[in-house]
Amino acid sequence: MTRAVLTLNAGSSSLKVALFPAQGDRSLATGQADAIGPEGTLKLKGPFGQPLEAAPGDLGSHGGAMRTVIDSLRVEYPDLALLSVGHRVVHGGDAFAAPVTVTPDILTTLEKLSPFAPLHQPHNLAGIRAATEAYPGVPQVACFDTAFHRSHPWVNDAFALPRALYDEGVRRYGFHGLSYDYVSGELARTAPHLAAGRLVVAHLGNGASMCAIQNGRSIASTMGFSALDGLPMGTRSGQVDPGVLLYLMDQKGMTAAQISDLLYRQSGLLGLSGLSNDMRTLEAAGTPEATQAIDYFVFRCQREVGAMAAALGGIDALVFCGGIGENSRMIRARICERLGWMGIEIDHALNAANGPVISSDLARTTVMVLPTNEELVIARAARAAVGISERTAA
Ligand code: AMP
Repeated sequence: MTRAVLTLNAGSSSLKVALFPAQGDRSLATGQADAIGPEGTLKLKGPFGQPLEAAPGDLGSHGGAMRTVIDSLRVEYPDLALLSVGHRVVHGGDAFAAPVTVTPDILTTLEKLSPFAPLHQPHNLAGIRAATEAYPGVPQVACFDTAFHRSHPWVNDAFALPRALYDEGVRRYGFHGLSYDYVSGELARTAPHLAAGRLVVAHLGNGASMCAIQNGRSIASTMGFSALDGLPMGTRSGQVDPGVLLYLMDQKGMTAAQISDLLYRQSGLLGLSGLSNDMRTLEAAGTPEATQAIDYFVFRCQREVGAMAAALGGIDALVFCGGIGENSRMIRARICERLGWMGIEIDHALNAANGPVISSDLARTTVMVLPTNEELVIARAARAAVGISERTAA
């Protein structure tokens, strides 16, 4: 029998899945359903990245896509026994500092957080409902992007707004927590002396943020109340002066929906370059606007490494992850170029080889590249919920 856990990341019209065995780090299969609806598509891959045939099925809804995925996986693994399903859920509010097995009461609590993350939370929860319906009795485990950051000290949790807003939940939550959890766990395993120190992790992908981690605990993050703050991203603005938003509302009559579209979908690298949200495309383009978009990205990253190090009172290691952080030696080199004052100096040959260590031998601060694995963090939580500990699994 193939005992396995499924991980799900449900977006507005997409569903990312991974099937993990009850033990071990390598997934048995991964898949992505896109454009869920009449034009839905499904791509599946096996453990070595080889394409797997998708079974014919309904891709018209998240529930249908989920069943089609499992039907397809059953062709590969006819004796599949699904132990639990782990879900990526963007917001756990201030209540959830760890994954939780979902009950109807917990689902109600999580629904109340939807206004804090209206673009993601409702879809994540729809994924939980669809999986509960498709697999009744199989534990559904919610894993939160915010949970890793619940250890922030108050000064990094609050905004300087009237207290009543803090009390109703207007706080700096921080996101990408599953990625930071994975990276700090990997470091604790492979370089415990660094993991015990002051760590700045830069998750640079289509979404981008940084996290200051001390002795395995998050103490600050560049993302705050929403996943808009901090670094510029593929299509998200990153930090903007709130006065700009007042101007857009007052003087240009923009609605909340229009401003939301501007900040989430039209800004960042896409907005600055007028060309693309994709770093590879910008690196290849070489137009003045693409070059400026990259310059802005690099500069804001340098600033935020400084800010995170200030929150930590120093820095022992800088770790890059995410699609850009893991793959773009040019961006890593450029970010590190002006950080010599922090003891950061990279070895260009090591950087070209994508690490794991890319700092020069004599540098005071270790710089590393560690590919992140958010799905594995979710799979481990899904296993833990049914009593499989990683120690017994090792
Ligand atoms: P993610 O959201 O983590 O999948 O990251 C997506 C981002 O990583 C996109 O901007 C890609 O262009 C970027 N990326 C992936 N591979 C490379 C590469 N080899 N060089 C530069 N950027 C890359």
